[in-house]
Amino acid sequence: MIEKYDKEEGYCRILGHFLVFEYCRNMNNGLPCSRVLDCWFQTFPVQEFIDENYSAEDQKKIFEPPKAKILTLSEILEQAQKRLQKNE
Ligand code: SF4
Repeated sequence: MIEKYDKEEGYCRILGHFLVFEYCRNMNNGLPCSRVLDCWFQTFPVQEFIDENYSAEDQKKIFEPPKAKILTLSEILEQAQKRLQKNE
């Protein structure tokens, strides 16, 4: 059951307050936070939880490093160029 640990409470170093695991499980576009293993390993078998509930593809999305800001900016520029080309 994916909601099994939802009521577990822990301190979030990013947000600076206590929260429940339900938040961590969904906060990444419906997937767990990328720091979920570090934050919850002392509370429950979180690696096992991830392996049981998320495919290899999902785990890749969960733990992939964030895109570099410069790449994100270049993507925005590329999209703007495409929009301009459409309007010509
Ligand atoms: S898993 Fe993410 S959201 Fe949850 S406590 Fe850790 S840093 Fe905060």
